[in-house]
Amino acid sequence: MAGLYFHIPYCKQVCSYCNFHFSTNTRGMDLMLEAMNLELENQYTFGQLTQLESIYFGGGTPSILPPNAIESLLNTAKKYFTWNNNAEITLEANPEDIHQENLLAWKAMGINRLSIGVQSLVQEDLTFMHRNHNAKDAQNAVDLILKTGYTSHNIDLIFGSPWLSNNNWEYNLDWAFNSGADHISAYALTVEPNTFLNKKILKKEWPNVNDKIQAEQYKYLTKKSAKMGWDFYEISNLSKPGHRAIHNSNYWKNKPYLGIGPSAHSYDGNIRKWNISDNKKYTENIHSGAEYYTSEILSTADKYNEYILTNIRTTEGIQLTTLENFEVKNAQEIEKELQHFVSKDLLVFDGDTATLTIEGRLLADWITSELMC
Ligand code: SF4
Repeated sequence: MAGLYFHIPYCKQVCSYCNFHFSTNTRGMDLMLEAMNLELENQYTFGQLTQLESIYFGGGTPSILPPNAIESLLNTAKKYFTWNNNAEITLEANPEDIHQENLLAWKAMGINRLSIGVQSLVQEDLTFMHRNHNAKDAQNAVDLILKTGYTSHNIDLIFGSPWLSNNNWEYNLDWAFNSGADHISAYALTVEPNTFLNKKILKKEWPNVNDKIQAEQYKYLTKKSAKMGWDFYEISNLSKPGHRAIHNSNYWKNKPYLGIGPSAHSYDGNIRKWNISDNKKYTENIHSGAEYYTSEILSTADKYNEYILTNIRTTEGIQLTTLENFEVKNAQEIEKELQHFVSKDLLVFDGDTATLTIEGRLLADWITSELMC
């Protein structure tokens, strides 16, 4: 049994690099919440989830919702699902929304893990990213989280921006590892189409990201993680031992999940469906009973690709026998493809299992596309 995901499609500002689905226009938020509650009531049987291991409020910026709105979604979930005290209930929060009142309200309704969008402690970097907080806000937010008695929080960081020197990346990591967090998600800055960042780079007003510096910063992170004794269990995710994120880990384990809200995806082992990425249309269609999602039945080849796509990113890697069992490619063909990357020191074999080396992690997207059918 996996998880329930709520996509909260609102943000206070537009970060320069972001291509997630969100709007800064919060008009119609009440109707949106009604629609999300309605969707949950209509879709709770998808994936035949009954007992949940995790609930995740992502976005967008879930922390900009009034706490009673978050609670109303949890209350609807309680009508259809059960979960025990070990269930991980995460809320993504930006530092500017983290204050005593919100923290206490979130805790009282059962949120037991916060994922903080810190990204950097370097002001120049934060300004370029168009974040809505400064370094002090982020540090104060984390102090308050600890004082309020939360025992689990994740720090989101971005590396490889043209405004982040290697020294400053080391400074960000020193702080994050010692901040009391039990988990860090570190993403390489990616230049996505249709973002402010992309426009600025195309106009040559901002420098482009530098692959060599991104690689240096990633390698530093792997060394630091090992030195601190952390578990770097997925390309972008590391935790204190025993503190892996349950919700995201279950995506990588191919477990079913139900996603509620505009742009949210759901998966039941055979069918994948994704909701319309338009707040107005999502709300109107749910309220009028019109279609608001697209779905597809996964073929065996899709499942083979999906297995590679998700598992290759983890320290559990991909198993040769599992790949063979899909009967999409024969054993010799699969082995030959994998050995090609072993010979380049991008993959290593341990028995039946292939995992990415550090160099391989830097080229994971390319390796994945080469292995897929
Ligand atoms: S707060 Fe998060 S979701 Fe919103 S624009 Fe910034 S990066 Fe994107």
